Amino acid sequence: MKENIMGVDVTTLNEQQLMSRIEDDIKRFQKVRIVAINPEKIMMAEQDLNLRHLLNESTYQIPDGIGVSIASKLSGGIVKGRVTGIGMMGNLLALANKNEWKIFMYGAKPEIVNQAARNIQKKYPKLIISGTLDGYINDTQQIMKTINEVQPHILFVALGSPKQELFIKNNMEQLHVNVFQGVGGSFDVFSG
Ligand code: UDP
Repeated sequence: MKENIMGVDVTTLNEQQLMSRIEDDIKRFQKVRIVAINPEKIMMAEQDLNLRHLLNESTYQIPDGIGVSIASKLSGGIVKGRVTGIGMMGNLLALANKNEWKIFMYGAKPEIVNQAARNIQKKYPKLIISGTLDGYINDTQQIMKTINEVQPHILFVALGSPKQELFIKNNMEQLHVNVFQGVGGSFDVFSG
């Protein structure tokens, strides 16, 4: 279910298959990690083995960027059309809304994350926003404690790359969360 594109794994599941897989993962209390793969990350990972590792050890690598599916096609692969990072976040919000699951939003500037949370709650009234934290607090212990107090099903981390991927890698063991997604500038988009 994965294909290796210039050293970096990418899922061959289509969007629908991926979402039903993740719904299943959450219902079975699995811990999963989602990372968006674009051509820039593939190029950087060619030079940087640590980054390659960080990407490849995630659970689902989604093809964010049409360049990834084109590269797959050119080498005879079957990676399906693009699933963007923000599209994936939207899919997870819809899933959380359907199941009345708890989400937590960590990252971006305080006014951005708060406005994004208000907009998301309006659009997805049945999901539970169990907490928000801005991305400029440096007390990791406090961050962990705040998240673990509410035990969200889904944690969105918006610190930019690779900071968000490193945060997830270093702390996922200790966090009572099912799904981790690094979402880059997506809170900025949702706040507008
Ligand atoms: N950010 C943060 N803490 C930091 C650095 C960045 O919360 O220490 C936030 C920043 O405010 C922005 C997001 O991370 O909301 C990064 O967005 P960007 O578009 O740069 O990320 P990319 O998608 O390019 O990785």
